[in-house]
Formats: sequence, structure tokens, C-alpha cells
Amino acid sequence: IIELKDITKTYRRGEEDLPILRGISLSVEEGDFVAIIGPSGSGKSTLMNTIGLLDVPSSGSYTLDGVITEKMNDNELATLRNQKIGFIFQQFNLLPRLTAMENVELPMIYAGIPKKERRERAQAMLTMLGMGQRGHHKPSELSGGQQQRVAIARALAISPSLILADEPTGALDSRTGEEVLELILQLNAQGNTIVLITHDHHIADNAKRVVALRDGVIIDDYRNSEKRRQGQEVSV
Ligand code: ATP
Ligand code: MG
Repeated sequence: IIELKDITKTYRRGEEDLPILRGISLSVEEGDFVAIIGPSGSGKSTLMNTIGLLDVPSSGSYTLDGVITEKMNDNELATLRNQKIGFIFQQFNLLPRLTAMENVELPMIYAGIPKKERRERAQAMLTMLGMGQRGHHKPSELSGGQQQRVAIARALAISPSLILADEPTGALDSRTGEEVLELILQLNAQGNTIVLITHDHHIADNAKRVVALRDGVIIDDYRNSEKRRQGQEVSV
């Protein structure tokens, strides 16, 4: 579903071009669950923003769900993003003036879904995430874990081809983080493709595949199943 080839990204700082991504090639299959790990500043969020069509690479090619993105203009990119991608962020990024229900409806408004269907789907998503009774609450009236559930409901509202999560448990206590991880595992078990950034090795261990970044390049890429198998061979 994701096909990145030789992606570079440089930022201009003063007179200098700072390379942030330095030749990333990565393919992700539908239904996979990929954790992206790496030290702070290694380019994880920049890579995620590229995959999420929030940011345009300096060079390289990117095909998302069969759509070649390089020559698209901002409007076309926004439309593709709104159709295909659900985002989950560390700080939830809910709009504070809107209720939980209205937050979940927002991406469906962009996608042009009529009001009645929007309401029904938003209610169904909230119910699925155990927030069915909380639709009328503002984010400030909800706990961190509840806000992240609303944010996940929002990400799922348009049935995205791809779910991108940047440190989704980073602002949560460990028990609540574990619940959010369980939700993400359930979504993947239902066939959703997930790419998730994390600093948390426990979360990376629960992904199917781990991609490690350092200084803007991929330095490791493995499947947890294979690693476990190798580990067993070693211990036998
Ligand atoms: P963290 O784990 O701290 O979130 P990260 O791996 O997500 O780190 P990025 O946010 O991708 O790292 O940033 C990589 C580098 O790019 C950093 O050195 C950062 O300062 C720089 N950078 C990111 N965005 C911009 C920008 N818009 N303009 C200039 N430099 C930027
Ligand atoms: Mg980051």
C-alpha cells in the first residue's frame, strides 16, 4: 500500500540545507503493522508526515494505494489524504470547541458524507471504542485515554486504507497506553494497515514489523515473528 523510493527531505536553515531523510526506500503491504523506531531527531515524524501527505519530499517517489503522488498539487494531495489516511497523534489533536461527536464527524465532512450518515457512523465508531455515552462531551471533559479513543474513532471514521500513529501512547500513563495498544492490535487484526512511531520497545515488540531509523536512513528492518524464531533457534 506504501511504496517509497529514494525519498530525501532537506530543510533550509540559514544558508545551509540540512538533510533530514537521506534516501529512504520502504514498501509496506496491506494489512501489515509496522513500528518505526529510532532516536529523537532521526526523522521519524518527518517520514510519517511524508507518508501521510502532510509534507512533500525533496526528491524520490511515493505511491500510496496505487496512486502516484509526485506530480500532485496541494489540493489533490489533500483530497487523497482525506480519502485514504487516518491520523492518530500523541497530543490527540482534537478540536477543543467541538464535542467528541463533532470531532469524529469532521473528516467525514471533508469526505463529503451527508449529515445523517455522518452522525450514525460517528455514533457507531464511538460506541465501538467504548465512548458511546460521551459523544456530547468536549475534549476538556474527558481523560487522556478517553480523548485518544475519540481521536482513534475520528481516524477510523472514513474507513482509511492506512492508519498513521505518531507516538499514540506517548501522552498516556502505562495502563491507558496498554489499552490503546490493545485497540490498535484489534484494528490490525480486523485488516487495517498500521504504521506507528514509538519510543516504546514493548509496543515495537507487538508490531509485526520493525523499521529502525537513524540520521535519516533505515538501519534495520525485521519481522518480529522471524526475530522470535531466530531467538528460539538460539535458545534451543
Ligand atoms: P522525536 O523522536 O523527537 O519526535 P523524530 O525522529 O520524529 O524525533 P523529526 O521530527 O522527524 O524527528 O525531526 C528530524 C530533524 O528534522 C530534527 O533535527 C528537526 O529539528 C528537523 N526538522 C523537523 N521539522 C523541521 C522543519 N519544519 N524545519 C526545519 N527542521 C525541521
Ligand atoms: Mg517525532
